[in-house]
Amino acid sequence: MDIRARVVTLELAERFTIARGSTDTTEVVHVEIDHAGERGNGEAAPIERYDESAASALAFVERTELGDDPFSLEDLGERLAKRPGEQAAKAAIDAALHDLCGKLLGLPVWRLLGLRRAGPPTSWTIGLADPDAMAGKAAAAQGRFRRLKLKLGGGDGLDVERVRAVRSASKLPLQVDVNEWWSLEEALEALPQLAELGVQYCEQPLRAGDPDGPELRRRSPLPIYVDEDCHTLADLAACAERAHGVTIKLAKSGGMREAVRMAHAARALGLGVMLGCMLESGLGISAGCQVASLCDHVDLDGNLLLAHDPWPGVQLVDGVQLPPASPGLGVHPAPRVALD
Ligand code: MG
Repeated sequence: MDIRARVVTLELAERFTIARGSTDTTEVVHVEIDHAGERGNGEAAPIERYDESAASALAFVERTELGDDPFSLEDLGERLAKRPGEQAAKAAIDAALHDLCGKLLGLPVWRLLGLRRAGPPTSWTIGLADPDAMAGKAAAAQGRFRRLKLKLGGGDGLDVERVRAVRSASKLPLQVDVNEWWSLEEALEALPQLAELGVQYCEQPLRAGDPDGPELRRRSPLPIYVDEDCHTLADLAACAERAHGVTIKLAKSGGMREAVRMAHAARALGLGVMLGCMLESGLGISAGCQVASLCDHVDLDGNLLLAHDPWPGVQLVDGVQLPPASPGLGVHPAPRVALD
């Protein structure tokens, strides 16, 4: 198999803000694997929070030899997992291998994995802003989406106000993501109020590894989901001590195969399962869609937050991000628009 990679910059439709910062563009690593006259494509977004960059992901792929059997997915995955870090690069390789295998067999990846095509409706993410601005975005999402995910962690004492403003503008189910920005005291003050406002669950209120995690799990009136605490299968047992659910992302797990293992292990531990994404194109989002049916909640809106999706094919149908029914990941590069 021939493998190569490049860095692609994606432009967002509008500035995106979370507790850790704002961005107008995002960099992803795109991997191509050629074998037996077919090409597999994969993409993932390296996460700065975990000291990964597009450059470090590219360097990882450039040091990767895959051999000649694209169907030896378990062996290939084990070899990649032994190399430290660079989970996004591993996820892009995993996606390209599955795309290739699907094309060689003439099957969409979700069928290759024996899964249903459709998962739960995606949430629509509303970035951190002042309460009125977030309420305006919630109202605008009406009719297109069936759930909203609000980014909190403003550090200004207005987080509950944000949820209250959105609640008055929208009747959709609400989820919140604090991105590690609260202390135990702040969480215990805010969560009962969010429960009264009908929020379904709260994602990562405390810092990853915060020793107060187990106490918050015991005392919270809302289910706590952990994202920054949960990367691979090896983290799940510890997550069960500090949360009621986990947020799986391919860019953290290293790809779809590990995500499937994590979803099943989470069930065994009595944990809820959410599948999240990064800011990524339809190529990255399609990989998430393939395994979404294993999850209780999904947040797969990354491609919908872009100015232009260079890999169309995933369809938003009645609030569900539906993967294509064509072989592999089923998405194809958009024709280049001629510029005058
Ligand atoms: Mg999160």
